[in-house]
Amino acid sequence: MKILRWYFNSNLLMRIMLGLILGVVCGIVVGPPVAVITPLGSIFVRALKMIVMPVVVCTLVIGAASVHPKNLGKVGGKALLIYLVTTVIAVALGLLCGNLLKPGFGMQLPASAADVAANPAAAPSLVETIMNIVPTNPFAALSTGNMLPTIFFCILFGIALSHLRESDDPRKSNAAQTIFNVFDGAAEVMYMIVNWILQYAPIGVFALIAVVFAEQGPEALGPLGMTTLAVYFAMLVHIFLTYGLMLTIFGVNPVKFFQKAKPAMLTAFVTRSSGGTLPVSMEVADLDMGIAKGVYSFSLPLGATINMDGTAIYQGVCVLFISFAIGNHLTIAQQLTVITTALLASIGTAGVPGAGVIMLMLVLNSIGLKVEPGTKTALAYAMILGIDAILDMGRTATNVTGDLAVTCVVAKSERQMDLSKWK
Ligand code: ASP
Repeated sequence: MKILRWYFNSNLLMRIMLGLILGVVCGIVVGPPVAVITPLGSIFVRALKMIVMPVVVCTLVIGAASVHPKNLGKVGGKALLIYLVTTVIAVALGLLCGNLLKPGFGMQLPASAADVAANPAAAPSLVETIMNIVPTNPFAALSTGNMLPTIFFCILFGIALSHLRESDDPRKSNAAQTIFNVFDGAAEVMYMIVNWILQYAPIGVFALIAVVFAEQGPEALGPLGMTTLAVYFAMLVHIFLTYGLMLTIFGVNPVKFFQKAKPAMLTAFVTRSSGGTLPVSMEVADLDMGIAKGVYSFSLPLGATINMDGTAIYQGVCVLFISFAIGNHLTIAQQLTVITTALLASIGTAGVPGAGVIMLMLVLNSIGLKVEPGTKTALAYAMILGIDAILDMGRTATNVTGDLAVTCVVAKSERQMDLSKWK
């Protein structure tokens, strides 16, 4: 009883890390017989798989429907465009660093028959992939777990919903508001279930990691360190080079920007939640950066919902880690697909701790790597999950910095910035 009380009352992150460490030790010490606990890991993978489609559908619909159609005007359009462009650069940077540093390269994860289905040779061509984004039957796409067409339909649904909510016909606006509330409520429900699943994560991670280390030995620690390095390196380059350059081009002093943005960046780093950091970012934008309310009151919440550059970088690197770890080297066409899906996935990622690792499954799915129980992909995914908290801190800080940088640039170009704050 006491142990259960300890289990549920102690910090979840600490427990997951403990699961990882104990898994490593147990795997190395016990060796191959540890395979008997494989089902404990499979239950975890099944539970994650169970929740991914419902989470994607609810959060994407809400994300797309939260953009007020009126805000899709000049300021909104500009912010949206820059958000999307910087995110594409972010994924590309993640892929570049992943290709250079090759995390997971040469790991020989224990093979299984189920991975054969994930052979990249069977992946469709780029043109086909783009065509397939438009579903012929959205319900079929949903029920078979086909991500891209599902995302496409959900975004379309969300945009239509946001228009209808503003309709002059009260019947339509009421009905649309009801649907919005249903999805909003459903998204909350899904996140509650995700939290419950995460309560089991320490045990699941323990079992999955123990099996990996029983086969691999201590050498498997190197690739995880390399993944962390690649993710952080790419994020630093993105923050200082991409944002720095963008700010300079628009005439905003980057050094001053980073000084002013520091409280928001630090809050994001420790809370691991862009949504939770929003009050701090708004205060920074208002008091320290002198940005007009009309700009930041729209662009910061929008950014906290859809602009996740750190998450996009992380997805690029982690997809490469997983594909190297299972010995499936990605083709150029597959990496282009990753850019598209990571962009969409980062839009659909909620600004809460750990959301990115759920969306990572979506990106993996799009290139035929399925996180199924008993597959190498699931093992490699579990390894990422073990270090996810460390990666989440950096990516949330990057996400929030991106929101502020884009808001600054939009405000400056629209002359909505009090320049006396920048003297
Ligand atoms: N924690 C991140 C955020 O709030 C999202 C993620 O998990 O990638 O921005």
